[in-house]
Amino acid sequence: MEIKLPSDVTEILNILHTGGHEAYCVGGAVRDSLMGFTPEDWDITTSARPDETAELFKDYKTIDTGLKHGTLTVIINHKPYEITTFRIDGEYNDNRHPEEVIFTPDLKDDLARRDFTVNAIAYNYEGIVDLYGGREDIYNSIIRTVGDPDKRFNEDGLRILRALRFASVLGFEIEPEIASAIHRNRHLLKNISAERISTELSKLICGKNAFNILMEYPDVLSVFLPEIEPAVNFTQYGKKHAYDVWEHICHTVDTIPQDKILRLTMLLHDLGKVPTHKLNEKGDSTFKNHATVGGEMAKEILTRLKFDKKTINRVSYLVSYHDFEPPETKVELKRHLKTKTPEDICTLLVIKKSDRGALSEAYRDISEGTAQTLMWLREIEQNNECCTLKDLAITGKDIMEAGITGENVGKALNMLLDGVIEGKVENEKSRLLTYLL
Ligand code: ATP
Ligand code: MG
Repeated sequence: MEIKLPSDVTEILNILHTGGHEAYCVGGAVRDSLMGFTPEDWDITTSARPDETAELFKDYKTIDTGLKHGTLTVIINHKPYEITTFRIDGEYNDNRHPEEVIFTPDLKDDLARRDFTVNAIAYNYEGIVDLYGGREDIYNSIIRTVGDPDKRFNEDGLRILRALRFASVLGFEIEPEIASAIHRNRHLLKNISAERISTELSKLICGKNAFNILMEYPDVLSVFLPEIEPAVNFTQYGKKHAYDVWEHICHTVDTIPQDKILRLTMLLHDLGKVPTHKLNEKGDSTFKNHATVGGEMAKEILTRLKFDKKTINRVSYLVSYHDFEPPETKVELKRHLKTKTPEDICTLLVIKKSDRGALSEAYRDISEGTAQTLMWLREIEQNNECCTLKDLAITGKDIMEAGITGENVGKALNMLLDGVIEGKVENEKSRLLTYLL
């Protein structure tokens, strides 16, 4: 099978070949091309040593990505291409980093160090080099390590999470022996940095096969997310519930759009149920304040996993308000709009759709309430209807001029806003002042 190479990649391969070196595309780009996708990033592997590569590309814009590890990034047409010298990874002593990197003239050695068979295929104009049956595994949709899984996971524990990530993103099965090794070696993830974990976790939950992976490997995720463990098999009593807490979470992750913020929100949204669970007099489960508690847990978890501030704040906000329901009246919606933006409301509706979709049949449908809310939002926007303090036809200064001082100014403004929202006073300055005094 022929793989279509972008002209920039052909240029790089030609330069290396003309310089007397072997050069191939490798890794994700070859895998994705064989699956019929158009790859974003192309990585090149070559027998040229780093100094030789640097010399051949001296007229190009380059970035020294990690010459010690043999990688030079060449920029062509504003796009980066990583060129890495064939290498053997030395002994691993910390389950993550090789003690040393040894350059080798042999492609075979370079392919042997790669994590999975589907990522260990090389390609250039002479054809495909597939020493580990990667093509067959792609054909059969299987993730399998290159070589003994226990050994490969011990070298680098991150590969455990990468296996789950690729299975989720590519929609592949993990070969049963590899799956056993993943469960058996899961503790190795303790040695992996939070940044690496969070990058792989984000990709994993955004994958099309996330549901199956989350359902099959909660023990693995619990190594760095111990809050998950008690949620697994945690029964929710009452006719509203169709699943235990973890299965419910997995369904909601599965049905929400494949966006990092939304998927993280669903992954964490109900972890607050475990510490807040109580049975009422009918014997049904109650989870008072679980959203607020969950929001705090989400903040702690995402901070621990070193997610960026924006993600931490947004996800913990969405978790703490995930119990938002489509409002029954326009006034109720306007009360929400005092503190939430229209975008917040729309996002909370998307969250609610997935959340309700994973309850028992009778509780699933919120399409009517959602459509009504969206219509009211449009009306509010079109008519510039007053919902926030800054929409009021009166300011703090006006209120002070009317003789009100200190914290009473804020209280007065809020009272006026409530009056306008409830329809008790028109949003017009003189009427507002009369209403106030
Ligand atoms: P993506 O589409 O996410 O970029 P990718 O396969 O290109 O997928 P990268 O993380 O970019 O994944 O890594 C590029 C290649 O380097 C992989 O295909 C694999 O051959 C090799 N590789 C990356 N990380 C490891 C690792 N931890 N252990 C062994 N090989 C690895
Ligand atoms: Mg890549």
